[in-house]
Amino acid sequence: MAVRAAKTVLVVEDNELNMKLFCDLLEAHGFETLESRDGLRAIEIAREQQPALIIMDIQLPDVSGLDLTRWIKDDEKIKQIPVMAVTAFAMRQDEQHVREAGCESYLSKPIQMASFIREVERLISLKGKAN
Ligand code: MN
Repeated sequence: MAVRAAKTVLVVEDNELNMKLFCDLLEAHGFETLESRDGLRAIEIAREQQPALIIMDIQLPDVSGLDLTRWIKDDEKIKQIPVMAVTAFAMRQDEQHVREAGCESYLSKPIQMASFIREVERLISLKGKAN
């Protein structure tokens, strides 16, 4: 069987409209999605499900997506999973904070659909090559 297993993407996002937009886009491009509206729960899901990519909202109610990313990158079980940060901040300085926290990639909201999917595919294929 040459059927490729669908890649799973974990979306961490507290805004319902963004959650639906990201998941619809990903599913339309053949990805499976896992959803978390809660940052700490997202870490548990990542450990259990080992997604191919994590899309991380930076502004979450209980804990910042930057802190979550630092914890992910300190965790031997999940540190290899690429993290793509998504933030409403559109300043150059924020991109630097995002990179310093360990995120592999950064997009600002409102996202552009084509570049969103292109970046998802790039990050997942980079991971595939490293394995
Ligand atoms: Mn948010």
